[in-house]
Amino acid sequence: MREIGHWIDGTAVAGASGRFGPVWNPATGEHAARVALASVEEVNAAVAAARAAFPAWRATGLGRRAEVLFRFRELLDANRKELAALLTAEHGKTLDDALGEVARGLENVEFACGAPHHLRGGFSEQASSGVDVHEIRQPLGVVAGITPFNFPAMVPLWMLANALACGNTFVLKPSERDPSASLALADLFAQAGLPAGVLNVVQGDKLAVDTLLEHPDIAAVSFVGSTPVARYVYERGTVAGKRVQALGGAKNHMVVLPDADIAAAADAAVSAAYGSAGERCMAVSVVVAVGDVGDPLVEAIAERVRKVRVGPGTDPDSEVGPLITREHRDRVASYLDVAKEDGATVVIDGRDDPVAAGPGFFLGISLIDDVPTTSRVYTDEIFGPVLAVVRVPTYAEAVRLIEESPYGNGAAIFTRDGGAARRFSFEVTAGMVGVNVPIPVPVAYYSFGGWKASLFGDLHMYGPDGIRFYTRTKVVTTRWPDPATSSVDLGFPRTR
Ligand code: NAD
Repeated sequence: MREIGHWIDGTAVAGASGRFGPVWNPATGEHAARVALASVEEVNAAVAAARAAFPAWRATGLGRRAEVLFRFRELLDANRKELAALLTAEHGKTLDDALGEVARGLENVEFACGAPHHLRGGFSEQASSGVDVHEIRQPLGVVAGITPFNFPAMVPLWMLANALACGNTFVLKPSERDPSASLALADLFAQAGLPAGVLNVVQGDKLAVDTLLEHPDIAAVSFVGSTPVARYVYERGTVAGKRVQALGGAKNHMVVLPDADIAAAADAAVSAAYGSAGERCMAVSVVVAVGDVGDPLVEAIAERVRKVRVGPGTDPDSEVGPLITREHRDRVASYLDVAKEDGATVVIDGRDDPVAAGPGFFLGISLIDDVPTTSRVYTDEIFGPVLAVVRVPTYAEAVRLIEESPYGNGAAIFTRDGGAARRFSFEVTAGMVGVNVPIPVPVAYYSFGGWKASLFGDLHMYGPDGIRFYTRTKVVTTRWPDPATSSVDLGFPRTR
């Protein structure tokens, strides 16, 4: 059986713990490989390599660090297809979707290439007589990243690009479900000239995460994953004295007002709910139909759902691939029974799609109407190709639902009314808002992050917040003494 190991101190190393996790090909159900699960000693070796590499990387000129990122950007661009194929093989997403993931990750690298600009500090001349003050941003040291299965290349790049550009060294713990993309990224970084030890990848499970959270040489942790684990990582990491940003799960509402373009709203709902089999933290999982828009909207969505082709990601005709594991597929499917028990209307049951019979971890796509907001179909993050429709009488009721949701990642409104859209952006309690845009993932020069249980921490990820997260500021107050004006003054220093 093929074994997937770690990347420590500039080279690929086999796992030595004797513990492994399965890596599936979700499209065939085949047990394709096994991934090493790191021991405490292996995690410690990765942290030690990163610690040893830090002084030289930190001292490397900004322009030289940016040069490595520029070269990495070129290599990533040249290897898009190979990386996308790895994502399709282990995650299952379609090749086209995988290429989109690589493209969004690449944009984060492009932003980080501007690090010499982003890291400029402020300078105040003559803050006091003969005294100047300037601010500098310095790297934190060794930082760790813990990433989810659903974006095995893009989410590591959200973290790595800025962290490395800022002069930190890195230990990445990718999802054990699709571990190969991280190793491919580490290899491209090495080809780009990143010195050994600056980036290390340890494969692993909870043991590796806990070891990183407690390690005294780890200064900061970036986490992306489900809300319960995000909360745990934030609490444990901050108690251990680390800077932590932990992005969690979501339940993203798409509000459709009666004046919306029904066809455009239905297109958007189908694309955003079922793309990547619904395994996106920014997927639309609830459509909130306001007033009398419900019937025509559900009809338009159902018409489109019936045409979507579910199949292997390698087949150019497939629009939706399989789910990540058999267990996850079964869990997602179980919500169709919950819907029926709770009195919702299952308009399309994905279990009826012949593709659901196997051999891979497939489920056809499902549409559920009239979902009560007390149902787990509404309250849980299902993370699969299941779209719930909730009907409400008024706009105010739609906004209240979002307000009451424990999550606050994305929210979208579909309307032709500029005033309603502006009001929605003003009052809705989510970190990323779309106006006639269903998946409002910010471009790389803004930052990504939700509110409430979708993010624990103070700073969002990538973009300007990424630079802030991966640096700490230092303020230097300077006087070049003029012997002619020097005197003893025991008073508290004040502006003169
Ligand atoms: P997950 O929480 O199961 O795993 C994420 C990471 O945490 C993995 O590296 C995993 O090995 C580790 N982990 C899992 N259980 C752990 C535990 N008990 N203790 C310590 N570490 C543990 O998430 P997932 O299933 O890989 O990814 C899907 C989830 O991620 C969804 O909830 C999705 O919404 C969320 N997500 C959020 C964002 C965002 O930006 N907010 C982006 C992508 C995914």
